This record gives sequence, structure tokens and C-alpha cells, in this order.
Amino acid sequence: MSAMDSTWEAVIGLEIHVQLNTRTKLFSRTQNGDVSAAPNQNANLVDLAYPGTLPVLNQTALTHAIRFGTAIDGSIARVCSFERKHYFYPDLPKGYQISQYARPLVGSGVFNLWFEDGHTKAVRIRRTHLEEDAGRSVHDRLPNSTVLDFNRAGTPLLEIVTEPDLSTPLEAAMCLRQIHALVIWLGLCSGKLNEGAIRCDANVSLRPRGSDSFGNACELKNLNSFKFLKNALRYEIERQVKLLSGGESVIRETRSYDPVSGTTRSMRPKEQHKEYRFFPDPDLPPIPISEKTISDIESSMPELPATVRDRFVRSFNLTPIQAYRLTLERPLAELFEATAKLCKDPQATANWILGEVTALRKRKQSRAQDIAISARQLSQLIERVKDGTLSSNTGKDLVNELWETNLDLDEIINTRDLTQISDHNQVSNWAARVVEENQELVPKLLNGEEKLYEYFIGQVMKISHGKANPQLVRQALETLVLVEDKQHSAENND
Ligand code: ADP
Ligand code: MG
Repeated sequence: MSAMDSTWEAVIGLEIHVQLNTRTKLFSRTQNGDVSAAPNQNANLVDLAYPGTLPVLNQTALTHAIRFGTAIDGSIARVCSFERKHYFYPDLPKGYQISQYARPLVGSGVFNLWFEDGHTKAVRIRRTHLEEDAGRSVHDRLPNSTVLDFNRAGTPLLEIVTEPDLSTPLEAAMCLRQIHALVIWLGLCSGKLNEGAIRCDANVSLRPRGSDSFGNACELKNLNSFKFLKNALRYEIERQVKLLSGGESVIRETRSYDPVSGTTRSMRPKEQHKEYRFFPDPDLPPIPISEKTISDIESSMPELPATVRDRFVRSFNLTPIQAYRLTLERPLAELFEATAKLCKDPQATANWILGEVTALRKRKQSRAQDIAISARQLSQLIERVKDGTLSSNTGKDLVNELWETNLDLDEIINTRDLTQISDHNQVSNWAARVVEENQELVPKLLNGEEKLYEYFIGQVMKISHGKANPQLVRQALETLVLVEDKQHSAENND
């Protein structure tokens, strides 16, 4: 991207669609969000737009949206209204989508994007509004025909529109990732990207580096993973650099991304707003939002991830990256804080959670809220490794066990005889045996082949069935080798 670095800079703005966690749909009583339902099982007359049906706004969706607005310090409308956005598509039975246009629920706000070195960048959020999702056209179920599934029709969506404040594909992907983390933290969304719970459209244009004008933007539709977002933007920026450098211009259009080829291709020219013929939905009168509703929501807000992150750095001395990773998910942050308080060792706690617990969770493909290790268990484990009762390897093995069972750690240690052996004589005897059995390697050790120590330690661990305290083993080996060295030089002096 060298041409890009010197001549052009990218300007990126995101439109993020978040499926809200509600029991029923945005305007009907049909069950929402059951991805296992048979096609069209969760679509009632309202969702299917039968004549004479009327929409009724879901209050939980409204509350969810205000919660998000509060989290980004957005201006919450005192009156918001719903408008019809008209377009034709087979999966849109009414011929229009109920959305918000002139009076969105949440006006301008700000999201503080976090970077690995701990600094942040304010990304302005232009607006956040409620709208309904469309049904789904299924092209691969029957040969030569498309079938329609309306289970998704009417699912509540929160649409978050940023200002074009992002400058690189990586920044855009981090922004999506962190907003994804925020909406899960707030309990608004399942966050399941593979089920389409969060989908992102990315708008990107180029301008001469340093300029403050705006070029023609293309809109990349429906990117449903951080990686796709990043790769689609990378490809698209390259494409626009080539066009502009060759003296051509970029056409404002909507493009789709194909993850298989890694390329984007034109879908349609960009719609102008007037083509949607927005007008207030006469079935839904403007919604007043009282001061009390707003202040009740404000006072029920949890501590936000960014606040917790900063607090972890300040109060527990974590690095920014540790604090960031621990606050991507609320259950992780809670486990960290509770454990660190019990064992009074925040560093060890962060290392165990981000290391072994996270690795085990990956192997089990579990969600953060399903981590079945309690703060008490984890803090005991950390203490037993620190006081030398357990070797760190045995400790790691036990993480799995603690997850699977509710057993008390000390009970496991005693009944299974897992106690690490720190008896000096015992350890020295094992070390001596290993040195004896590997005499031919000792000169190499004496010549400073430090790596060989690992092999020797490994041998001692083997004959001790993993129970020797590895630190003592190393000490014992070093002492023995020192002795050999002295004998050696004494012999040479003879
Ligand atoms: P609309 O056309 O719907 O009024 P815009 O096209 O201005 O809205 O904005 C839609 C999205 O595109 C926003 O996320 C905005 O930040 C982004 N955007 C607007 N202009 C540009 C641009 N020149 N380059 C990149 N992104 C842009
Ligand atoms: Mg929209």
C-alpha cells in the first residue's frame, strides 16, 4: 500500500446493525431470535404485512436503544418517530421498512476507540436508531428457485452510524470489535456473528493525504466478521488507489464483498434518500420519552468496559493490553476482579485467566458466561502454585478439572497426592541419578550449553512423575555440575 501511504489517505465510516435481544419482535408478538425455528414458524400476520394489522412498539427494544445511547453519551430524543423507508424486495412484505429518519432515538454521541498502547481516539457517532430487519431470501434450498423465510422479518435492529472518523482498515475492524463488545456487555445483543447478530456496512473513500475534503465513497455491504471488514476495506482501498492514480474517478455505489476471492464487486449505484420516499408512519404516532425513563435507565447502567479497563490499569497495575483483553467480556472482568481480590495477586490472576482459562475455554468452545471456574477455585489454585504445593504444570492440568467438577482444590491435592515434592534430599537424589545416567553430556553443560539444562530437568520430572519442584531441580543440577566442574579442573591441575 505504498502509493496509499504517500499520496492518499482513506476515510471510513461504519453503519453497524445490531440485532437486539428481545423476547418478541419490534412491532409484533412473535418470538424473536430463535435461529433453530423451522422456516416461517416465527412470522405472524403483522410480520407478513396482512392488511388491517397494526404495529405495536416493543418497549424492551426502546430501553435497549436508550441504554446504548447512554453508554455513548448520545443525546436521547425527548420525542422520536418512526418512518417508512420504501423499497421493493421479495423479503420485505410491506414494501417498506419501518425505520427512523428525521427524529432518531439517539442523536450525536461518541465512542472512544482504544489502541494497544492505551491511547484512545474519539469516533463520533452521528446517530443511533431503531428499525426492523427484513426476512431472508434463501437461494440454495431448492434448485432453480428462491424461497422466502420470514422468521427474521421484524427483528429489532439498532443501527449505529459513525461519522467518517476512521482512517485504516485495522481501525475500522477494532471499532466494530469494541462496539460488538459493548453491546454484549450491556446485554443488548447475543453478539453471535455467525448468526448475523451484528452486521456492518463500511463506507470508504480516498482523499489526498492531509486534505480535509471528501472523495466519493463506496459502501461495502453486510460484512459480518472483523476479518471480512478489514480485508474488504483493504481490497477496496487498493482498487480506489488504482482508479484515482490512473486519473479515473470513483463512482458512488454499493458493493458486495466476496470472502472467497477477497474482492468487492458492484451491486448497484448508491440510492439517493429521496428514492426511499421516507414519511412518518401513520400507524405509529411520535413516541415521547420522559425524563424519568431516561434517568431510570441512567441509574441502572453497569460500569462500562472503558471505565473498568482504566480502573484495572490504575488499581491493579495491569498493562493496558491486559486490561483491554479482560474487559472485552463482562464475565471475564468479573472473574478477574473477584479472584484478584481473594488471592491479592492481580498479575498472576490476569496471567491465569488470559492464559490457561482462555485456552481451555477455546478448546471447549464456550462463551465467557459459561466459564465454570469460580473466583474461589482460581484464587486457591494461584495460591497453591505460589506456595509451591503444586507445580505450575500440575496447576494447569487442574484448571480443566476445576471446570468439570465442583471439587475443592485442597481435596483434589490430598486425595490424589499431587503435592509437588520440594524435599531437597529427594530432589538432589533424582538430579544425581540423571547426571550419572547422562555423563557423556556433562562436558557440554560445562561448556555452557545452557539449553541442555532443559533436557536434564525434563529427565528429573520424568522419574519424579512430574512432582519434583522444577526450580529446586534446576538448583540441584547446577550444584552438581559445579561440583563436576571443580573435580574436572582439579584433575587438570594434577
Ligand atoms: P447518507 O448518504 O445516508 O446521508 P452518508 O453517506 O453521509 O449518509 O453517511 C453514511 C455513512 O457513510 C456514515 O457512516 C458516514 O460516516 C459515511 N461517509 C459519509 N461520507 C463519507 C466519505 N466521503 N467517505 C467515507 N465514508 C463516508
Ligand atoms: Mg438502515
